[in-house]
Amino acid sequence: MSTQRVVVTGGAGFLGSYLCERLLSEGAEVICMDNFLTGSPRNLEHLLGRSSLRLIECDLTGFVHVPGEVDLVLHFASAASPADYLRHPIETLKVGSLGTLHALGLAKEKDARFLLASTSEVYGDPLEHPQRETYWGNVNPVGPRSVYDEAKRFAESLTTAYRNSHRVDTAIVRIFNTYGPRMRPHDGRAIPTFIRQSLHGEPITVTGDGSQTRSICYVDDTVEGILAMARSGLQGPINIGNPTELTMLGLAEKIRDLAGSSSPIRFIDRPVDDPAVRRPDTSQAAERLGWQPRVDALSGLRRTIDWFARELQGHRESADVSL
Ligand code: NAD
Repeated sequence: MSTQRVVVTGGAGFLGSYLCERLLSEGAEVICMDNFLTGSPRNLEHLLGRSSLRLIECDLTGFVHVPGEVDLVLHFASAASPADYLRHPIETLKVGSLGTLHALGLAKEKDARFLLASTSEVYGDPLEHPQRETYWGNVNPVGPRSVYDEAKRFAESLTTAYRNSHRVDTAIVRIFNTYGPRMRPHDGRAIPTFIRQSLHGEPITVTGDGSQTRSICYVDDTVEGILAMARSGLQGPINIGNPTELTMLGLAEKIRDLAGSSSPIRFIDRPVDDPAVRRPDTSQAAERLGWQPRVDALSGLRRTIDWFARELQGHRESADVSL
């Protein structure tokens, strides 16, 4: 990548840590800014010795300063799992609004390109399927999920205003459900939950009757799409996700089979305003970025389950040692 100095907000989180890793491997200097609300320096520990990585503990909703030049700001700071943002509703609204304002201010000050990590959740419980970038969404502004959905919708609006009024070179990616190693086993998202329950032989908790759908994208593919967008001159918004659609029950059964588990399925209440369907139309990403996901669900889930098995085993062993 021709960019030399990149700020990654939320760089100690799941997606942010992969972005830092990938940028460092391409020779960039990376400044990661994170308050560790839902991320951890542990996600970057294998990179921390490198002189080209700087990890700054800071809350994006407060004063933000980075000395020297910056070529690119990747704005990823925000709780992302429903369990996290429902536990931190005000923090989520603040980082989506004030945090985005400060990240955009930084890009403006440094004359840097700015990329906003937006989300498929801006489409809400969609009335159009699959979701194209032209769809405006169906979000309940006072529902529990609105703290995340509306924060991201506001962030998209603010990003567009900075482009139009301040001539900041901005880009918006709408990321669909992404999974892979380094997700937290208890982050409340479906894939880590199903894997943890399968590996522990516990009942797999599927919400509703499990007929609601999601489209899951392996992290390497998502990172590739994000960086393709960052390198392009495009404004977006552009969908980044895997269009292969699965029912939640089908996903739970697939994970159980791959984990070699005999866990029973337990149906539990469906969360309020949970989207019934989710699938990206990725024709824009294919045509304009030449990007398409490459990792199929079976291989991505296998890699993720293997990582969780090692991770959960490691936890058990360290718990045994500390006894
Ligand atoms: P994550 O929770 O693992 O990472 C978010 C990071 O942001 C964490 O390290 C957290 O500590 C940090 N953060 C939160 N508030 C902050 C603040 N005020 N100041 C500084 N840092 C703060 O989540 P993730 O899955 O890696 O998601 C990263 C981004 O991508 C989010 O903006 C999310 O909305 C977006 N996204 C992710 C997905 C997905 O499937 N993972 C899908 C759509 C959009």
